[in-house]
Amino acid sequence: MGKPTGFMEHDRQLPERRPVEQRVGDFREIYRPFAETDLRDQAARCMDCGVPTCHAGCPLGNRIPDWNDDVYHGRWEAALKQLLATNNFPEFTGRLCPAPCEEACVLSINAPAVTIEQIEKTIIEKAFAAGWVRPLPPSRRTGKKVAVVGSGPSGLTCAQQLNRAGHQVTVFERDARPGGLLRYGIPDFKLEKGILDRRLELMQQEGVDFRCGVQAGADRDGPSLCADFDAVVLCTGSTRPRDLPIPGRELAGIHFAMEFLTGQNRVLAGEEKHLAVQAHGRQVVVIGGGDTGSDCIGTSHRQGAAGVVNFELLPQPPVDRPQNQPWPFWPMRLRTSSSHEEGGSRHWNILTKRFVGENGRVTGIETVEVDWIEENGRPVRFEEIPGSEKTWLADLVLLALGFTGPEADTVVAQLDLDLDERGNLHTGDDYMTSRPGVFAAGDARSGQSLIVWAISEGREAARGVDLFLMGRSDLPQKEGADLPRV
Ligand SMILES: Cc1cc2nc3c(=O)[nH]c(=O)nc-3n(C[C@H](O)[C@H](O)[C@H](O)COP(=O)(O)OP(=O)(O)OC[C@H]3O[C@@H](n4cnc5c(N)ncnc54)[C@H](O)[C@@H]3O)c2cc1C
Ligand code: SF4
Repeated sequence: MGKPTGFMEHDRQLPERRPVEQRVGDFREIYRPFAETDLRDQAARCMDCGVPTCHAGCPLGNRIPDWNDDVYHGRWEAALKQLLATNNFPEFTGRLCPAPCEEACVLSINAPAVTIEQIEKTIIEKAFAAGWVRPLPPSRRTGKKVAVVGSGPSGLTCAQQLNRAGHQVTVFERDARPGGLLRYGIPDFKLEKGILDRRLELMQQEGVDFRCGVQAGADRDGPSLCADFDAVVLCTGSTRPRDLPIPGRELAGIHFAMEFLTGQNRVLAGEEKHLAVQAHGRQVVVIGGGDTGSDCIGTSHRQGAAGVVNFELLPQPPVDRPQNQPWPFWPMRLRTSSSHEEGGSRHWNILTKRFVGENGRVTGIETVEVDWIEENGRPVRFEEIPGSEKTWLADLVLLALGFTGPEADTVVAQLDLDLDERGNLHTGDDYMTSRPGVFAAGDARSGQSLIVWAISEGREAARGVDLFLMGRSDLPQKEGADLPRV
């Protein structure tokens, strides 16, 4: 432990966000720099608990108390070594993770948690600035060839691990550039794409071969991939958006969230000139209260929407941890993102009944409020509240209702792979699908989840592939005990 009394001396402190009126004028990262001395004080708040529940709360088993101690003592290279031992891409998780580790931090029982995510981000950014993050090509090659399909965080992790184990890795990506949702889903104000490109360049220098614009199942069929490679790993994500098939759905101006977010990211990257779906001057209604909905809200503000309204069917969660969701588990409580802070209104218990329009274009939405019936403290079913019907103005509607699983009609069908009861790719504990030599990881296997889980799955699948190819593996096994998935 860096400083035994640190948690009593220092309050939790995070970097400031840029003022709302300034940041909605651009797509740059929203946080201001944080002084190193302040960060050291934050690391001093770690109590180095005998049983570090933060470590179990992190899906990667990150060695949090160890790096907090190193940061407090100014041993930055040692902190980096501990961080990279379990996390391939802390520059992504340090910006984007909802930090289940912080909900599991012992300090959070009766005080604000240690700022674990911010410390993680600072370690890796300091390391990049100092030139300590260098390509790590393998010292020898095994002669085995692996195809990784999909280049989101699970595919990138799996490729990096397998390449470091000495296998020749080719990543097939159907999009124009690698990164998956890191590039085409998540807005720049959460992750500037230079951060992603910096990592991709290192991976190329390490020997990973990226082939973009190649769709497995179409440009390369499944059986030919299996014939040309010793193993294939499907990291194709959970890409089928959940629809809202209610009257009026056919009207123009109603779009899936990803059409809107991807369009903006492509324009910022210079891949497209114009926004196909745009919020400028429009009354925007975002249906769905999760991460994707929040990203639509932040992007709408930046595009100059006239107004932004957000609906969520579920009830408003409490601000504090509910009693039936005790520490150290991940609690369902009210989360206010930087995008929510920027404006618009949020409404809970809202059921969307019908889209209304004129001349084929949406002009409004009819809703009704619902009352939730709880069982064991959780909402299980709802009833409509008579007389609570309302019509809202809307000339752009964004559906952010989640995703229903991987596309099952392409490479999955060609290889005749088993799906689980939720429509995701079914694997054993070794991440191998029903076809020997074909593996799966990330959202395609688990359903839409988090970046930290995608990285964890990529690491586990790589170890499964390495064991399959070599009969043994030096790739690290997961550390720490998992808390239930967020
Ligand atoms: C808008 C949005 C915001 C999010 N924000 C956050 C956040 O802030 N924090 C967080 O932790 N998580 C967030 N998530 C979730 C997170 O992005 C995902 O859980 C994560 O990206 C999953 O990684 P993956 O590698 O499994 O899949 P993906 O990132 O979806 O990558 C899959 C890749 O496979 C490619 N592909 C698919 N089929 C084929 C094929 N047949 N051939 C070739 N390539 C193919 C796709 O083009 C894509 O590049 C967000 C999700 C969305 C949609
Ligand atoms: S990856 Fe996420 S859960 Fe793990 S230490 Fe970092 S912020 Fe916490």
